[in-house]
Amino acid sequence: MFIDIIPRMLIGGALAGAVALQASRRGHVTLAGAYAAFAVGTAAAIGGAGWALSLVVFFYSSVALSDWQRDEKRLRSRLVLPEVRARDAWQVLANGGWFAAAALIWVFTDSWHVGLFGFGALATAMADTWATEVGMALKAAPRSLATLRSTTPGTSGAVSAHGVAAAVGGAFVMAVCAVASLTVPFDLPRLEAVFLGGVAGALVDSVLGATVQSRRWCDVCGDWTERRVHPCGYRSHHRSGVRWMTNDTVNAVSTGVGGVVAAGLW
Ligand SMILES: [Zn+2]
Repeated sequence: MFIDIIPRMLIGGALAGAVALQASRRGHVTLAGAYAAFAVGTAAAIGGAGWALSLVVFFYSSVALSDWQRDEKRLRSRLVLPEVRARDAWQVLANGGWFAAAALIWVFTDSWHVGLFGFGALATAMADTWATEVGMALKAAPRSLATLRSTTPGTSGAVSAHGVAAAVGGAFVMAVCAVASLTVPFDLPRLEAVFLGGVAGALVDSVLGATVQSRRWCDVCGDWTERRVHPCGYRSHHRSGVRWMTNDTVNAVSTGVGGVVAAGLW
């Protein structure tokens, strides 16, 4: 088995490097984000072809959904979101870090729990990303999970019916990827574990986003934002939530929870 690792690392590293380079040229990731994506992709390839392909499914479906109605989304969310969608290294690691770590441990242990943890974490990232992109593209009217009032599309912790449907779809597709990657033949209990892990993780993400995530306030416009500097040019200040609980921290926690639920359910 160990003899496989070196060719996987070389081939996987080359492919991950090519994907990361193209993503950075097209503005989907920053330069640091591209290095992080390269590392995550190489780790996934070491885990095996199924792990690598599942990451490709996550990555390209996210890119395709984020390109859908891109300009309109940018207009609608420019007041609340930190920047326009070039993922930085922290964002990449918050979404793919647990999956990458699980892929590396899986190679050495062949532990089902580790495998399901990794896919549960990626199913959460997929559910969360699909929910955000689909909800914003369809101009869903989201409500805050904390106050139940309608709020600006793109706000953390806001949910809409379209978004929930997309989250369920994303978790399901990743559960199918997990079963195709980890088990021969088809195995329903493991599919359910990854699916429910992804749904649970996405739910935790929304609840944390609506409650403890740091929210900033612009005094000039009198509006909430996740941006440090509001588009009006005024510096926003931390006003509610936990100061260090950024969107990336919330993502890292919720993908971890999704993984733990998937591993624990099986
Ligand atoms: Zn402002």
